[in-house]
Amino acid sequence: MSATNTSVSPDLVVDLERIKRDINTLAAIGFNDADRGIYRQAFTDADMAGKHWLLHRIEENDLEPASDGAANISGVLPGKSDASRVYVGSHIDTVPCAGMLDGTLGVVIGLECLRVLKAAGLELERTIELIAFSDEEGRFGGMFGSEAFTGALTPEKLLSAKDLGQTLLTDAMLAQGLDPKRALEARRDPARIAAYLELHIEQGPVLDQNLLQVGIVEQITGLQSWSLKLMGEANHAGTTPMDYRKDALMGLADFAHEIPRILAENGGEHSRATIGQAEVQPGAPNSVPGLVVFSLDFRDPSTDTLESLSQAFQKALAAISRRRGLKFEVKVQGDIQPVPCAPHLKDVLEAEAQRLNLRYQRMLSGAAHDAQMVGRVAPMAMIFVPSRGGMSHSPAEWTAWEDIRAGANLMLGTLLKLATSPDEVSS
Ligand SMILES: [Zn+2]
Repeated sequence: MSATNTSVSPDLVVDLERIKRDINTLAAIGFNDADRGIYRQAFTDADMAGKHWLLHRIEENDLEPASDGAANISGVLPGKSDASRVYVGSHIDTVPCAGMLDGTLGVVIGLECLRVLKAAGLELERTIELIAFSDEEGRFGGMFGSEAFTGALTPEKLLSAKDLGQTLLTDAMLAQGLDPKRALEARRDPARIAAYLELHIEQGPVLDQNLLQVGIVEQITGLQSWSLKLMGEANHAGTTPMDYRKDALMGLADFAHEIPRILAENGGEHSRATIGQAEVQPGAPNSVPGLVVFSLDFRDPSTDTLESLSQAFQKALAAISRRRGLKFEVKVQGDIQPVPCAPHLKDVLEAEAQRLNLRYQRMLSGAAHDAQMVGRVAPMAMIFVPSRGGMSHSPAEWTAWEDIRAGANLMLGTLLKLATSPDEVSS
């Protein structure tokens, strides 16, 4: 734990009513009565309305509203020195039929922290900037805004990104009056990012089950996503003897069955693997399947473990294909490396959690976040608050207001500490 000065205005607290109002107002933008879900996918009219609402709130509070080339929305509370900035943020775009907290909570709490600090009239050493990143949830692949912010966005990616309906990202941006080329200008110099902090709902059951108020994230897990093909031979379901078949679906069944063994032998306690999608061809009840196209998503906090899982999966596919007379093909669609949170930032968070007498634990993030992108180039840390029943990406997503208050006060105290003591973030 770091020996930090805990005497800076310990009386500052967030206004929970104001947080509630903002969350409820934003929840109405893109809300669908029929299924009670929120539809604010990136660069839709609802998403743009959310961005405008946020800009307006930032303006109202005199926090220097701005929007960069990737349509990331910012608000700024200036510090007195030219030291590198402290960032706080998340995203306000949603998956289809979303709940009201994923992403939104982190942005609203960041806004609230800036409001409280501004009203307190403190002299901050460092500038604090609120940022709401575009397309975190993946209408066009995900992490678009934070990729642009960190310089990971390439012209190829920008020009080729499409949604499921084959709409190009560039067309979606043009339709909203945005110039897509400007997204490549959204990069900030990593040397000017002292810290990036993100508060997010856990989206898993751990904090809720352990009756804790907040989690301090140790690390964000790595993830590989594959698209696979098993190729056999389509044939007549009645006339082809069982021994003569090259049944691609049976190959997939064998592979799925191997997953628990592979995780036990090559994985760790946090390893996860999922086949979430499969398509059988020709897809007729009276045909032996000649082809299956399926997905594999696997995650682990260790790069070495991900590599060892990758090899074990390929080995199993090779053995199964040999046995069943199939061919296989693996295409790596996504490869996100695990990213550790900055130790000195975790220490500040933990010291603050103790000062506030919060019930907390250190934990892993199994989901990807904007923080993962920023964490590749600058010091990053995350706060989790409990998700009721572990529910997320659903209208049932919920966190108790008191836990939201606890997480928000932890963010407020941490931002204040980082912005007032420049040496704190220089490690
Ligand atoms: Zn999110």
